[in-house]
Amino acid sequence: MLKRLCVGLVLAAWPVLAGVPVVMISIDGLRPDSVTQADEHKLSIPALRRFIAGGTYADGVTGVLPTVTYPSHTTLVTGVEPARHGILANTAFDPDLHNMLGWYWYAEDVRVPTLWDAVSASGLAAASINWPVTVGRKTIRYNIPEYWRAEPNEDRKLLRALSTPGLLGDVEKVTGPFPVGSQAEAQDDAARALAAAWMLETYRLRFFTIHLNALDETEHAHGPFSAEANATLERLDAAVDRIVKAAQSADPATVVVVVSDHGFLRVDRHFNILIPFLDAKLIELEPVGDGLGGLPKVKRWDATVWPVGGAAAVVLARPSDSALAGRVRSLLAKLAADPANGIARILEKGEIAKRGGFPDASFLVEMRPGREIGLNTKGPLVTDAPANSRVPRRAAGDARVAVHPGRGHCGAPRPGRGRHAPNRSHGGGAAGRNFATRRSAGLGRAARQRSVTAARDPPGYFPASAPAKRNTSGAFQLMATSLAA
Ligand SMILES: [Zn+2]
Repeated sequence: MLKRLCVGLVLAAWPVLAGVPVVMISIDGLRPDSVTQADEHKLSIPALRRFIAGGTYADGVTGVLPTVTYPSHTTLVTGVEPARHGILANTAFDPDLHNMLGWYWYAEDVRVPTLWDAVSASGLAAASINWPVTVGRKTIRYNIPEYWRAEPNEDRKLLRALSTPGLLGDVEKVTGPFPVGSQAEAQDDAARALAAAWMLETYRLRFFTIHLNALDETEHAHGPFSAEANATLERLDAAVDRIVKAAQSADPATVVVVVSDHGFLRVDRHFNILIPFLDAKLIELEPVGDGLGGLPKVKRWDATVWPVGGAAAVVLARPSDSALAGRVRSLLAKLAADPANGIARILEKGEIAKRGGFPDASFLVEMRPGREIGLNTKGPLVTDAPANSRVPRRAAGDARVAVHPGRGHCGAPRPGRGRHAPNRSHGGGAAGRNFATRRSAGLGRAARQRSVTAARDPPGYFPASAPAKRNTSGAFQLMATSLAA
């Protein structure tokens, strides 16, 4: 299903792109029911609701593996799964922390053509603001990529250097100091929307992408449908309205698509997977000191984990070492056999490949809903999620979504961020349908999706893919409308 829909995105987009401009707005962490059940959640979001009334939408889609910000956003613009496009998680695999907790920021890591490339190849202009994995994407004629590294004022200089020459200076005449990728308050997204409007009104654009961070940030801190998250979404609705009006003013035929990468599920317990790996001597830590961000300082490893929230890829130092693989397989089987650990299943290499993720992993540990991978290196194997992370998830439910100060988007620590890190992901599925059916007033075909969990636990929160069953709480939603309709 996913593959078919993703391919649909690319193919269906061509005739649309050839005829009218397309604007794609990503609202990170937006659940479908935020819009489809806005009344129940007491949300005043008139701009988004106009998409429901006048456009078409899907109330769920199939997420990619892992369903986190960077892989999902890259699927949105390539139509293929992470194992093919190459953005395998938010952060690059870096067990020794040599990459200093770096994310997959760079366009050169994307191995397949993107929609921007196709637009550019047609001689048309593409533009983008704050979209993941766009640093160095030369086919985006006007580009302000998502990037951060340290402190926002210093990062802004870096962003100026990484953006299209002169563009950030021009934008800042309209917005004032422009937010870097680590800034994810509602006012930061408002500035991005202002910049988007200016770009749409200034340049003749055929394809425009923008990624808004603030909802994800707030949901990690307070949970979906908290007063804070609702207030943020209402402000983002105004941002969407601003962008839509600018797009309409530039060309009334513009197709606007709103997408999201994942939603949130509660997290009750953490499974501290490093502890059994340490006990089995598969990982050895330095005797003293922590690594970056409080993460353990690794001395050597034969097998290690690449955590992505509700799942963890297991990577072997020597993948063809069958004795090592056997040891790890036995360990994982033993851990999975104890229901207290909360492991849903262990996937082997072939099964991981079928799901389209982690081509270099030998195993994937998938947790049950409500469970998250933790990275404590001592103490109990299973620990409670922090009490202050309990938040309502549904109107009638009790849920907790955990977040960690200073941690990054969907699944990895981010140095130098503010209190909460924004999150970004977004999978690929139904976009093509919406491109293709832009004038339809009917429902988009609801697709299956995987749920995403978000947790707050040192050293990070980790939204990830959960079992591939329909679950509209772990969301990726999109809607499209023709403004001329
Ligand atoms: Zn996200």
